[in-house]
Amino acid sequence: MTIKNYINGEFIAPIKDNWIDNYNPSIGEVYGQIPNSTKEDVAKAYEAAEKAFPTWSNTTLAERSRILLNIAEKISEKLDALANAEAKDNGKPLSLAKAIDIPRASSNFEFFANAITQFSSEAHETVGLNAMNFTLRQSIGVVGCISPWNLPLYLFTWKIAPAIAAGNCVVAKPSEVTPMTAYLIGEICNEAGLPKGVLNIVHGLGTTTGQAIIEHPKIKAISFTGGTATGAHIARTAAPMFKKLSLELGGKNPNIIFADCDYDKMLVTTVRSSFANQGQICLCGSRIFVEESIYERFKKDFIKKVAELKVGSPFETDTNVGALVSKAHLEKVKSYIAIAEEEGGKIVFGGEEIEVENFENGYYLQPTIIEVTSNQCKLNQEEIFGPVVTMMPFKTEAEVLEMANDVRYGLSATLWTQNLNRTMNFSKQLQVGIVWVNTWLLRDLRTPFGGMKASGVGREGGLEALRFFTEPKNVCIQYN
Ligand code: NAD
Repeated sequence: MTIKNYINGEFIAPIKDNWIDNYNPSIGEVYGQIPNSTKEDVAKAYEAAEKAFPTWSNTTLAERSRILLNIAEKISEKLDALANAEAKDNGKPLSLAKAIDIPRASSNFEFFANAITQFSSEAHETVGLNAMNFTLRQSIGVVGCISPWNLPLYLFTWKIAPAIAAGNCVVAKPSEVTPMTAYLIGEICNEAGLPKGVLNIVHGLGTTTGQAIIEHPKIKAISFTGGTATGAHIARTAAPMFKKLSLELGGKNPNIIFADCDYDKMLVTTVRSSFANQGQICLCGSRIFVEESIYERFKKDFIKKVAELKVGSPFETDTNVGALVSKAHLEKVKSYIAIAEEEGGKIVFGGEEIEVENFENGYYLQPTIIEVTSNQCKLNQEEIFGPVVTMMPFKTEAEVLEMANDVRYGLSATLWTQNLNRTMNFSKQLQVGIVWVNTWLLRDLRTPFGGMKASGVGREGGLEALRFFTEPKNVCIQYN
């Protein structure tokens, strides 16, 4: 299976004929090749985008919206094929790809197809000086979109849909670890009537292809989702070129459980917020803090429920936990389990690799629960991004708030309580971009999405994304 770049509506091989292997993590085998595109390929993609921009940015909102809705519909029509491709490329359960990843990719296009028809800008009358200001919100030009491997099509479309809805043309790069569904979206865009050059997809490593996108002098904005170290590198490169930047980075999210919570709902949701997508969601609650009075009960019940999760091939319908995305990532996650004891932790469940029948070389790991005694250990301070959570008890609100915030990340937090005052006080004081109270991963696409501190800069979602992908210009008119 050879993946090609999608440039100017056509599928083409990389100019320098460099290729890299694409793995199926559920069996640990190479199943295809993808381009490792160089700056020449990125330049070609840029040229196509630049050429398409004048027409696309002047296409009526109704027409842009219609094309985006077509793309959304075609994604839904191809649900099975796309979900299969995602499960094979990423290792995630097929059931999850069918229920979440692919429907959400379709919703991203549908949402921004509608949002762009409702987008408006401000006017300010300068009373007393006979002046009127209005804000023009214009398309930026050619923008770069770079996405990670954990929710491949879901996050790729979360960027390209608002970018093109706002009239920009795009040079996009999916993760080299999971390129397949981004490749398939090219064909869908052609079928849906997206004009040539509006979306261009170049494949390859971050250090070659990604680097060429962020360094390109004429790509005016970069929307990036990925690791914090990569985000810092992108900021160092792009900031002196004064590119507009949106950085959605890593997380180490607290899951704070008070004794007054709806216990059964909390327990079921906490299993999900810990291990959904093999724990490879930036929003997973990887640090679980439990009020002391229910700690032992929670520990027993949580272990029992997690033990019921079936680790297995992504393609079995009863699989809850699939394969990790790559051998390198599996080794990274295992390296944290290996230091659990020297960090003062105790593995109370899991910790071992699993051999799945007929899928022996796949990257399977037991969901793992580690009891820790301090929030200062590496297991609580560093992003593991796998099926590993820590848990520890707390006594007071002040103590748990301090621990929740005492980390370099600030993406999301989950709070379990029925107490309204506590809900409000924690919501105000938690240093995160998203607080879920008595729920997790409930997403309304109109809401701002993003993190504080080392979890990023800027917000995606709803009007925030349309604001990012447009340049505001104030026009001041004085009259007599
Ligand atoms: P990564 O940073 O390694 O890679 C992300 C993307 O950046 C890939 O496409 C990669 O090829 C590219 N890249 C790497 N080096 C680059 C460079 N020098 N220039 C330009 N592009 C470059 O991240 P990953 O391992 O793919 O994804 C996991 C990380 O993503 C985790 O830290 C996770 O928390 C984070 N994440 C964050 C969010 C969020 O919304 N905040 C969502 C999902 C994942």
